[in-house]
Amino acid sequence: MIENVTARSILNSRGEWTIEVTLRSGEWKVTASVPQGESRGSREVVSLPADQAVKNILEIIAPTIIGHKLGDQNNFDDKLKKLDGTPNKEKLGGNALLGVSMAYSRLSALSANLSLWQYLRELAIPSVKNAQHSVLPVTPPRLLSLMIEGGLHAPGASPFQEYLVLPRATTIIESINIITKLYSTLRQLISDRFGSSATRLGDEGAFAPATNDPLAPFALITEASQASGLADKFEVGLDAAADNVSLNPEELNILYDQARMNYPLRYLEDPFKENELDNFVSLLTKFDKGLMIAGDDLTVTNVERMKLAQAKKSINAMIIKPNQIGTVTETLEAVKLAREYGWKVIVSHRGQETNDDFIADLAWGIGADGIKLGAPARGERVAKYNRLLEIEATLLT
Ligand code: PEP
Ligand code: MG
Repeated sequence: MIENVTARSILNSRGEWTIEVTLRSGEWKVTASVPQGESRGSREVVSLPADQAVKNILEIIAPTIIGHKLGDQNNFDDKLKKLDGTPNKEKLGGNALLGVSMAYSRLSALSANLSLWQYLRELAIPSVKNAQHSVLPVTPPRLLSLMIEGGLHAPGASPFQEYLVLPRATTIIESINIITKLYSTLRQLISDRFGSSATRLGDEGAFAPATNDPLAPFALITEASQASGLADKFEVGLDAAADNVSLNPEELNILYDQARMNYPLRYLEDPFKENELDNFVSLLTKFDKGLMIAGDDLTVTNVERMKLAQAKKSINAMIIKPNQIGTVTETLEAVKLAREYGWKVIVSHRGQETNDDFIADLAWGIGADGIKLGAPARGERVAKYNRLLEIEATLLT
C-alpha cells in the first residue's frame, strides 16, 4: 500500500515550473513528472500552477490515498476523480491528479515485479491478464519523429507546427537509425541554405528555418532524404495545429492537396480548428484511404469529444496525451474507445516536457500504432527514444 506521498515543483524543458510526485511503499520508491502543452486544446483539463498543484497533492490528495493498496488502478483513479469532483479537474488540477496516477502505475508495476509497459498492457487488455507476457503479441509503435517545427513551438519559422517523418522499418532501432541520419543531413542542408544560425532548435528539438511557404519544410526533408540515400525509407506527416494558423479552410485544403500530391503524406493532425468539425468530415471523405487524419486539440483524449468526432465521421486516428485528461485510467478508456471506432492510436509527448519517459511504456503497453516524440535531440526528447530502445532490447533478448 501507499505509505508516503511527496510532491515538489521542478523545471520543464521551457524553463517553467511543473510538478514531480514521489510515492513510497516499503523499500519501493518511484517518481513521476508531468508535461505541459504549449498549443493546448481548449477542452483539455485544467493544469494548475505548479505550486498550487503541489499544495493540493500534499494537503488534499495525500491524506486520502495513503493506505490505498497497490495494483488497483481503476479504483485508485476513480478516487482521484471523485476527490476533485469537477468535469475539467479544475479543483485539484489535472496535472496534480496525473502525477499521482502515473506514480501509482509505476509503484504498482514495481510491486508486481512487472515493467511499467507490461503493467499498462495488463490494464489495457484485461482479457489476457493471466497470459504469459512473453506470448502476448508485441509490436513496436511506429515513430513519428519531428524534423522541422514552427507555429507556437518556433514563432517566426513556418506557419505549421510540426513536419514529421514516419520511418518504414520494423524495429525501433532501425527507425531511429533512419531518423538520425536524416536529421544530421538536414542540419547541414539548412545551414548551407539558410545560414548556420538557422539550425538552432525549436521547443521540441527540431530545426526551425524561417519560411513563409508552409510546404517548404517538406521540400527540405525530401532533398535531405535524397542526399542521404533515404528516399524510400519513410513517409511524412504534418501537425498543422490549425487553431494557431491564420490560413482559412480553403487555403488549407489547397495546401493539403499539394502535400498529398508532392510528398508521401501519411499523417495529418489537427488540419482545421477544433470547432470546424465539418471541414474534417470533408477531408476524411476525400482522403480516408491511405491518410491518417488525427484529432489532437479536437479530441483531447476525452471520450465525450471522441463520441462527437465519431458521430460525424471526422477522423480516423487520434493523439493520446495523458495530461489532456488527467488520469491513467481515463487515458486507457480513450484508447479502448478509439480501438472500437477503428481509429489509429498515436501516443504523444508535449511541447513542454520533463525527462519522464512514461509515454514510451504507454505506447509499447497499449500496442499503439505510433508515438510522436519530437526530434532525436534535447534530453527530454531523447529520454523517450532511449526508453523505447530499452524496452525493445529486453524483448529481443
Ligand atoms: C501537439 O500539438 O501535438 C503538441 C505536441 O504540442 P503541445 O504539447 O504544445 O500542445
Ligand atoms: Mg498536435
